[in-house]
Amino acid sequence: MLPVVEIDVGPCINCSLCRRACPTEAINYFSTGQRTHVIDKELCIGCDICVKLCPVDCINQDLEYKPDPIKLESAKVKARAYAKRQRGVRTARRERARRAAEKVRA
Ligand code: SF4
Ligand code: SF4
Repeated sequence: MLPVVEIDVGPCINCSLCRRACPTEAINYFSTGQRTHVIDKELCIGCDICVKLCPVDCINQDLEYKPDPIKLESAKVKARAYAKRQRGVRTARRERARRAAEKVRA
């Protein structure tokens, strides 16, 4: 089982890259006073996408946290649905590019 992650809010620059990329929408931010990004660990599947994107390396694994297997499975279902949607978007984009290229050639 992959470890879930947490944000060290000190160095976080609130760029939102992690939040926009998370396939399970586990990352939220709050605008109370200073904007703060927070990970809902029950939704995290430990995919590491946010870790790789963070420009200041302030997302770390939480090795102590033990996910609830039922909630973890439901987060994985959400991630699979997200991946399927993204594949659809990429296919549509490729199709538009192909049609545009055909128009240019014609
Ligand atoms: S590790 Fe994956 S699922 Fe967990 S918060 Fe980061 S992007 Fe989301
Ligand atoms: S990617 Fe890193 S710096 Fe940007 S909001 Fe997420 S945790 Fe903060």
